[in-house]
Amino acid sequence: MDQRFDAAARFAAGTQYIGGRLTEGGSGQVHAVVDPATGGKILAYRTADEADVDAAVAAARAAYPQWAGATPAERSDALHRLAAVLTARAAEFAAAESRQCGKPLKLSTGFDVPGTIDNTAFFAGAARHLEGRSAGEYSPDHTSMVRREPIGVIGSIAPWNYPLQMAAWKILPAVAAGNTVVLKPAEPTPLTSLMFAQAATEAGIPDGVINVVSGTGPVAGEHLVGHPGVAMVSFTGSTAVGRRVAGIAAGSVKRIHLELGGKAPFVVFDDADPEAAVHGAVAAALINSGQDCTAATRAYVQRPLYDTFVAGVADLMATVRLGDPFDPATDLGPLVTHAHRDRVAGFVDRARGYATVVTGGGPGTGDLARGAYHLPTLITGAAQDSEIVRSEIFGPVLVVLPFDSDDEGLALANDTPYGLAASAWTRDVYRAGRATRELRAGCVWVNDHIPIISEMPHGGTGASGFGKDMSAYSFEEYTQIKHVMYDNTATARKDWHRTVFGHRD
Ligand code: NAD
Repeated sequence: MDQRFDAAARFAAGTQYIGGRLTEGGSGQVHAVVDPATGGKILAYRTADEADVDAAVAAARAAYPQWAGATPAERSDALHRLAAVLTARAAEFAAAESRQCGKPLKLSTGFDVPGTIDNTAFFAGAARHLEGRSAGEYSPDHTSMVRREPIGVIGSIAPWNYPLQMAAWKILPAVAAGNTVVLKPAEPTPLTSLMFAQAATEAGIPDGVINVVSGTGPVAGEHLVGHPGVAMVSFTGSTAVGRRVAGIAAGSVKRIHLELGGKAPFVVFDDADPEAAVHGAVAAALINSGQDCTAATRAYVQRPLYDTFVAGVADLMATVRLGDPFDPATDLGPLVTHAHRDRVAGFVDRARGYATVVTGGGPGTGDLARGAYHLPTLITGAAQDSEIVRSEIFGPVLVVLPFDSDDEGLALANDTPYGLAASAWTRDVYRAGRATRELRAGCVWVNDHIPIISEMPHGGTGASGFGKDMSAYSFEEYTQIKHVMYDNTATARKDWHRTVFGHRD
């Protein structure tokens, strides 16, 4: 097999995965999956139209009764088998992910693929632990119990930054809880979502439980969100599109789950370990070329450490090696598309007018020029209300600002509409405690920034959305509870009927 993954051969039959088989999209439009490291075309595919979405929803609805009726143990077994298939195919998944995203193979093999396998194994176990409150006689005349039930067909929409992991985060809790899914991956990166669905079929998960429609947001995405056969919409992407998705879903009163943008602060107090903070900031700003919703984007550094921190980050960024994602020596790959690279470069260019670009500051040159590379970039001297500090850039760009008091540092960190992730760097347990209480985010790290774990929830607040991915908490999203109440009196004339019939016998 070509180490770089031959997508054209793999998806010769099409890029819609409906009812357990690949078909061509019907829109008449073609979208190219482009290798962002070279600009070369990997695959041209026909995008889904409304009829493809209808067919996928119909397949998911047809599969629902049997899947929802399976025992937790049966669903658990199926997910264990899926984890085994993913493990056996790990190298192929890593190659495909690196090819379509441009991410270094060491990131795909060290994070994306093992993270997905671990998530699958986690939900295989969690499928058997769908719990609720215990039953009981909360009125002497009745026994009450709560049933936790799946919701139906889930319409999921995913972004391009971690296509495999995002597909897994959307699909796994939903199917573990007995729902069926139609997933729409992002236009540039459908490959590993399709492979995930194929792996599910190989693992014996029934046809129609996991379907993938590869199409555009405005056509396939909006049709899926508004579809009357879809019971819930689970969306991960930008805040702007999330707002639109919420509006469309509201039309049919669907449950929604929104994982949106971020602008994570990285708060360095003056007692922090400077070496740890510098290494942490560079790694957390550059992971996945900065295309990570939790990436460190704004470092606030207490004045006594500020100069040391800026110099350390600039020096370390200069050592990061950009290159071919399949070269083991490469630290940083290109951005996902040339258009996105240009968008990132636009933010940096505009910042030159009001701030200082300390290092980096533009697209890759020389051998890198044909790819969508952007140099690791450090910016200082920007005002808190400037675009580079407030907007989500989603590229390898870190802006550093000083602060004096702890109050000020925490206030600046909280001063954006987002609330996805944040970190505090200090060796003082009281400062750390205060930061974890006061930083407004779905996750706060202390002396680290980025790690996630299958057992713990991921999700934001404010403009970063609501609802949790991963962990047992995600079952709250993908299940609904039903109160079932049994009469215990076995009498025709209940005591409470007096409120209707008054004093009649
Ligand atoms: P995006 O919002 O442009 O697209 C996300 C998905 O929505 C894609 O599949 C796209 O085709 C689809 N879409 C676009 N318009 C649509 C419409 N009108 N109706 C329905 N679907 C539509 O986001 P992106 O550029 O692919 O991804 C980057 C964004 O995702 C960043 O903002 C990042 O912070 C966010 N993100 C958030 C999390 C999280 O967990 N909070 C995780 C990863 C990425």
